[in-house]
Amino acid sequence: MKTIEDFNFENKKALIRVDFNVPLDAGFKVADTNRIEAAKPTIIKVLEDGGSAILMSHLGRPKGEQNTDFSLKHICQTASEVIGVQVKFVSDCVGEVAENAVANLQPGEVLLLENLRFHSEETSGDANFAEQLSKLGDIYVNDAFGTAHRAHASTTVVAQYFEESKCFGYLLAKEIDAIEKVMRTGEKPVLAILGGAKVSSKITIIENILDKVDHLIIGGGMTYTFVKAKGGKVGDSICEDDKMALALDILKQAEEKGVQIHIPVDVIAADDFSNDANTQVVDSDKIPDGWQGLDAGPDTLANFKEVILKSKTILWNGPIGVFEMESFANGTIEVGNFIDEATQAGAFSLVGGGDSVAAVKQFGFQDKVSYVSTGGGAMLESLEGKTLPGIAAIIS
Ligand code: AMP
Repeated sequence: MKTIEDFNFENKKALIRVDFNVPLDAGFKVADTNRIEAAKPTIIKVLEDGGSAILMSHLGRPKGEQNTDFSLKHICQTASEVIGVQVKFVSDCVGEVAENAVANLQPGEVLLLENLRFHSEETSGDANFAEQLSKLGDIYVNDAFGTAHRAHASTTVVAQYFEESKCFGYLLAKEIDAIEKVMRTGEKPVLAILGGAKVSSKITIIENILDKVDHLIIGGGMTYTFVKAKGGKVGDSICEDDKMALALDILKQAEEKGVQIHIPVDVIAADDFSNDANTQVVDSDKIPDGWQGLDAGPDTLANFKEVILKSKTILWNGPIGVFEMESFANGTIEVGNFIDEATQAGAFSLVGGGDSVAAVKQFGFQDKVSYVSTGGGAMLESLEGKTLPGIAAIIS
C-alpha cells in the first residue's frame, strides 16, 4: 500500500482528491470544519516537502451544472484558516483556466479547484475528463474516503494516468488501516455490534462479518426480526417478516462458524413511537400487542457490557435504540460507555457506517473510541467486504 509517506514532494505538484463536501449555513459559511481538518496533515506534508497542493473536491449535488450555491469558493476562507496557508481558488477544475492557475503555482502554495461536479463527467467517470484532471499534477494523492466507493473521474479513473506516481493520503490510509484491523489483523476476541433499523440493510455486512468475528451483538430494530423468527412475540415492534428465514439462517451459520450471537433479552417497550410514550421493561420475546421495543433493557445491557469488556477489537455500526428520542437513547449511550471502557483497557474500537457517526457525535464519544470513520457509505461497503474502486485504483 503506497502512502504519501513514500513520496518526497519537493518541487512537485500534488493533485489531491480531498473531501471538502462540508455543510454550509444559510450565509454560505462552513458550519463544520471536520473534513477540512481531516485533510490538513496530507496537505501540510506536501508543503513541508517543498511541493504545492492542488485540491479537488465536490460539494453537494449540483448535477453537472454550474451553480454558485455549490461553489467551493465559499469554503476558501475557512480552508485558509484551518490549513494556515492562503488557499488560492480557480473557477474551473479543468481546461485552460485551471491549467494556467496550476502553472503559476509556487512550492508552498495551495490551489483549490472549483467543484468537480459542475461537470457531469465527474460522476459518470469520463476518461477524457479524468485525463484533463491528471494534467494538473505530478503525483495523485487520494485522501477522500467518503467518496472512495464511487468510481468517479477524480476518485478512481484519474489514477490510471499516474502509473507509479499515486498514493493514499494520511486520512485514507488511516481508514484502510482501521478496517484492516477489524476485518483481518485485529487482536481476538473480535466483536461486531450491529444496530440500526432493519435486517435488510445490514444483511450483506452480517454475512461478511460472520467470517471475521468471535462475537456479534445485534441491537436496534433488527432485534425483532430475529426474536420473532425464533418464535417470540414482538407486539408492534419493527419487524421484517420476509427476512425471518434469513435471520434463522444467520443464526445457523453463526453456530457453524463458532460465532456467538448476542440478542437483547429484554427491551424498553413503548405504547407509541414517541418520546412521551408510556414505557415498560419486558422480555424481548413477550412484547404485548400495542407495544413496541424501542431500546435495549437493563439485563440486555448487562450482557452486552460483559461481551464488550472482554473484547480486544470492536466494530460498532448502528444505534442500539431510537437514540434520536431521549427516552430511548440510553442503550446507545451505555454501549458507547462500555466501548469507552474497553478502549481505555486497550481494545481497538472502530465506529462507522451510515448513521452511527451521528449517534457517536451526538453523545460526544468521538474522542473515546479509537477511530471514527469519515465515510458513511464507503465504510458500509468496506464492511460488506467490497473492494472500493478508489482504493483499488491506487493499489493496482
Ligand atoms: P440504520 O441507518 O440502519 O443504522 O438505522 C438507524 C435508525 O435505526 C435510527 O434512526 C434509529 O432510530 C433506528 N432504530 C434503532 N432501534 C430501533 C427500534 N427498536 N425501532 C425502530 N427504529 C429503531
